[in-house]
Amino acid sequence: MPANVDIAQLVCELCQGFYALGWASGTGGGIAIRDADQIYVAPSGVQKERIAREDVFVLDATRLDRVQVVRRPADASLRISECQPLFFNAFRERDAGAAMHSHSLWPVLAARIAAPGGGPGVLTLRGFEMLKGLRGKGCFDEVRIPIIANTAREADLTDAMAAAMRAHLDVDAVIVAGHGMYVWGHNWVAAKTQAECLDWLCRAVVETHRLGLYDAAGGSA
Ligand SMILES: [Zn+2]
Repeated sequence: MPANVDIAQLVCELCQGFYALGWASGTGGGIAIRDADQIYVAPSGVQKERIAREDVFVLDATRLDRVQVVRRPADASLRISECQPLFFNAFRERDAGAAMHSHSLWPVLAARIAAPGGGPGVLTLRGFEMLKGLRGKGCFDEVRIPIIANTAREADLTDAMAAAMRAHLDVDAVIVAGHGMYVWGHNWVAAKTQAECLDWLCRAVVETHRLGLYDAAGGSA
């Protein structure tokens, strides 16, 4: 990350963009970006398109086994994003530079097609150019994205997400059934690019399924 980038401001701008895409409706979703020393993360339960840079929490990035707040927002009522333990999964397990959470409808519906009961499963993606936007993948690859079951509290997803990450080392995303998707990357650009490609691919699954062209075992025809 170039030294002149204001990461707290970047978190705000990305949240605005995600809100415009329908990924952060109803205060959901969020992003965390890490540099060598610090992690910048949005607050919980707020209008994500209206976050100011002063509202962004800054955490110590030198140890990932606990949460150490370096800079708290001026507004003492703000709490750290509920996604913090899930974002830390990506930092710990994959040395990610950024992690994000989307409440987009497309991964939710695509997961429902792949695992209709709302339980854990795998979403298979195949036959689309946008697969090229995923780390290490080509447009003719078959990509399998893990789906985990939802829980009442975001933090209770932590262990299931970590287990799914270890079982699918070749992809940088986990879908939460009936809920949304976690995506990460080695920096914020990689995380955002993969999130956009995956959202497009999930929408493609839903639309091909609607057209009667989707084979849940083998992806889109
Ligand atoms: Zn969520």
